[in-house]
Amino acid sequence: MNRDIVVRFAPSPNGLLHLGHAYAAMVAHDFARKRGGRFLLRIEDIDSGRSRSEFVEAILADLQWLGLLWDGDVIFQSDRWDSYAAAVERLKSMDLLYRCFCTRTSMRQVQEDGSQAEGPDGPIYAGTCRHLDTALAEQRGLTEPHSWRLDLAKAIARTGSLEWLDERHGKQVIDAEKLGDVVIVPKDTPVAYHLAVTLDDARDGITHVVRGDDLFASTDIHRLLQALLDLPTPTYFHHPLLIDESGAKLSKSRDSASLSVLRMAGHDGYELVQQLRRDIFPVGISLS
Ligand code: GLU
Repeated sequence: MNRDIVVRFAPSPNGLLHLGHAYAAMVAHDFARKRGGRFLLRIEDIDSGRSRSEFVEAILADLQWLGLLWDGDVIFQSDRWDSYAAAVERLKSMDLLYRCFCTRTSMRQVQEDGSQAEGPDGPIYAGTCRHLDTALAEQRGLTEPHSWRLDLAKAIARTGSLEWLDERHGKQVIDAEKLGDVVIVPKDTPVAYHLAVTLDDARDGITHVVRGDDLFASTDIHRLLQALLDLPTPTYFHHPLLIDESGAKLSKSRDSASLSVLRMAGHDGYELVQQLRRDIFPVGISLS
């Protein structure tokens, strides 16, 4: 047993899990088990507008049905607001965050007029609010809805060049040009995914972040936040995504078969995972 290895599966309870999640959970689970490590389950329920308790229940039932059992208690991000708020304050005190009053519509307009480059969260923010007068922004902030963005240039100036390792894709060097000033505190929630996940991976002692290639581009942001907040850097393993017949990623918003439907129809979850292991696990990836 190598108790030093800690891996997590971290679903967001804003829909039912589908086959793509079964595959992701299996890869993370097997990665931990084959190395004699621990496998944790963290429910990423910070988006209170979209998270629902019935989806949490379905996630737990689905994973049990699949035979992908986790160690210890289930972790809930919604129990950790204080630690997120403390980190936001720390980044503010380092003068790395600024208020952004842009709306979806105003940003779309600016993007149509300018660059279309894509960052981890969609089109790269044009920086409209980056140089607002601080006193004025503070004044507007009293009444106007706003988010807080990370000033990428200032952040990188502090940390210098950064690297991280992906066991499948090799060594990565952060390319600040591709990131943009990502949102750290959205308008309607106290913390964004990037900060919460970075803090929690450190807090939970995650040694290997095993997740889908869809989050590959986000890891640069997470690595940057680790450097700014003096957090350790795990090793990463971004696995390929399951795609449907048309080549599209299986996702909750599409009409992919949900695990709950299969479970309730009496299918054998353990056999389904065996099938994923046997037939779909891509050739050339070794979990040993
Ligand atoms: N909560 C995220 C999701 O469901 C995954 C987070 C992660 O693995 O880093 O897409």
